[in-house]
Amino acid sequence: MESQVSKANILNGKELSVAILEQLKPRAAAIAKLNNDNPPGLATVLVGEDPASHVYVRNKRRACEKVGLTNFHYELEGNTGQAKLLALIDELNCNIEVDGILVQLPLPKGFDYDENEVLAAIAPTKDADGFHPQNQGALMQGTEAPVPCTPKGVMRLLDESGMQGSGKHAVVVGRSNIVGKPVAMLLLAQNFTVTICHSRTADLALEVSRADVVVAAVGVAKLIKGEWLKQGAVVLDVGINRGDDGKLVGDVDFDSACARASYITPVPGGVGPMTIAMLLSNTVEAAEQRLGL
Ligand code: NAD
Repeated sequence: MESQVSKANILNGKELSVAILEQLKPRAAAIAKLNNDNPPGLATVLVGEDPASHVYVRNKRRACEKVGLTNFHYELEGNTGQAKLLALIDELNCNIEVDGILVQLPLPKGFDYDENEVLAAIAPTKDADGFHPQNQGALMQGTEAPVPCTPKGVMRLLDESGMQGSGKHAVVVGRSNIVGKPVAMLLLAQNFTVTICHSRTADLALEVSRADVVVAAVGVAKLIKGEWLKQGAVVLDVGINRGDDGKLVGDVDFDSACARASYITPVPGGVGPMTIAMLLSNTVEAAEQRLGL
C-alpha cells in the first residue's frame, strides 16, 4: 500500500521578507523625494551587552541600509539608567527625521529599568514595534495603529497559506504581550475562533489537536509534536531555541509536524525574517502618515 505520509508546504519567511523589503524601496524613495531628500528614519536603541540583542539590532540596521531608510543608532552602557534612557526617547520623539523608534528588549537585568515605562514614553505614532499601551489598546478595539512586528509577520505568513478564519479554530500557545496576546487579537479580527494556551493549560496536546491554525510562541524546543496536530493544520512557529547540537530550532517538532501540517514555517527562515520586514514596514507607514500620503 502507498504511504499516507504527506509533506507540508513550507511557508518561506526568508523569501517573502526579501520581497516585502524590495516593495518598501520605492516607497522609501518616494518619501525622500517629497521630504528634502530625507528617507524614513528608524532609531535603534541598544542598552547593554546582551549578545543576542546585538545580533538582532545589527540585522535590523542592515535591513534599513538595504531598503534605503536612515538609521539613527544609539548604544548605551548597561548602567545608563532609566532617566537617561527616557531623556533619549524624548529627544527622538521630537526629532522630525525619526519616524520609528525601537528600544531593543530585554533591558539589562540588575539595574532599575522599567520596560513598561520605557515603551509608554515612545510617541505612539513613532512606535515601530507596536508595544505602546495606546497601540495595544487600539489592537483590542480593532482601530488602526502600529501592529507588533512578529504577530504582523505571522499573519502575513498565514495569508500565504490561504486559510480563512470563518468557522476555523486557531490555537495560540503562549500569552506574552509581544507575541501570544497580540497574535490572538489579530486572529480574532480575522474571524478565527481563538484559544490561548499557556504554561498552566491542562492538556496542551488536546487543545492543539482541535486547531486548524497553530501559533507556537513558547520558547521550549520541539514542545509541540506532530502527532498532536489535526491533519492539514497550518503551523506557524515563532519559537527560537538552541537545540542540543547548538542549532536553532522552533517550538514545534518540525519533522513530525511536516507529516500532518498542510503548511508550516521553518526555524530559522520562517517567522524571524518577517519580524524585521514588518519593523521596516511600520516605519515606512509612519513616514507616509506623517506626510499625509
Ligand atoms: P515569553 O517567555 O514571554 O512567553 C512564553 C509563553 O509560553 C508564556 O506565556 C508561557 O505561559 C508559555 N509557556 C511556557 N511554557 C509552556 C508550556 N510548557 N506549555 C504551554 N505554554 C507554555 O516568550 P515570548 O517573548 O512570547 O517568546 C516566545 C518564543 O518566541 C521565544 O522562543 C522567543 O525567542 C521567540 N520569539 C521570536 C521572535 C521572532 O522574531 N521570530 C520574536 C519574539 C519572540
